[in-house]
Amino acid sequence: MKIYNTLSNKLEEFKPIEKNKVRMYICGPTVYNYIHIGNARPVVFFDVVRRYFIYLGYYVKFVSNLTDVNDKIFLQAIKENVDETHIAKKYSDAFLEDSRALNAMPADVVPRVTEYINKIKNYVEQLIEKDYAYTSGGDVYFRVTKLEEYGNLSGQKVDDLIAGSRVDINVKKENPLDFMLWKHNTDGITYKASFGDGRPGWHTECSAMIDDIFKGEVDIHGGGSELRFPHHENELAQTKAMHGRGLARIWMHN
Ligand SMILES: [Zn+2]
Repeated sequence: MKIYNTLSNKLEEFKPIEKNKVRMYICGPTVYNYIHIGNARPVVFFDVVRRYFIYLGYYVKFVSNLTDVNDKIFLQAIKENVDETHIAKKYSDAFLEDSRALNAMPADVVPRVTEYINKIKNYVEQLIEKDYAYTSGGDVYFRVTKLEEYGNLSGQKVDDLIAGSRVDINVKKENPLDFMLWKHNTDGITYKASFGDGRPGWHTECSAMIDDIFKGEVDIHGGGSELRFPHHENELAQTKAMHGRGLARIWMHN
């Protein structure tokens, strides 16, 4: 079986990390509204990949997360005049129901950000200790220029990215490419942290969840092609900074 790997830009023979097993992690939606057809596409696509592996005799561990706390959920709660947990529950349930209606097998594990706060905080703390991250005005940012391989997954060079990035008005960052690991916040649901009260950044949750659930690399990390940059590039950067290795053998994008 050959799979196109976004990281190498090549068709590669599939070789599992563990014999007869496939570890798959697929980025799930932020649950602030009903899904659109673009959210349904990876659900169906990666369900087909998973079923084909099962058909070939593999045991597949399939994990797909839900982002159930962030700014979009906070804003939707104001719009619907309810609290954030109500929004997250309503649209998580709707997403899982729609996935069933699309005949997708349920994921083996559905980690939610709200269940992972301590692990995410710990992850951010470690990156600060390793000097790959810095605090600034209550936010925490990842120091992109410290990592030589940044841009490999999305096929971009750091210098081009800097030249191409719009003038960044965020004076809290050392470099416009630095991305947020923790967002200082006082509105809505916030969590106490040594670096300031706030909410986790989107990219950090997936890296922390994969670490916790798989205790190492996954065979396939998937999602829509719009996730390649910046989301997946940033997940990979964090993992390299944290462990000095990759996050997935194969990066697969629909
Ligand atoms: Zn992700």
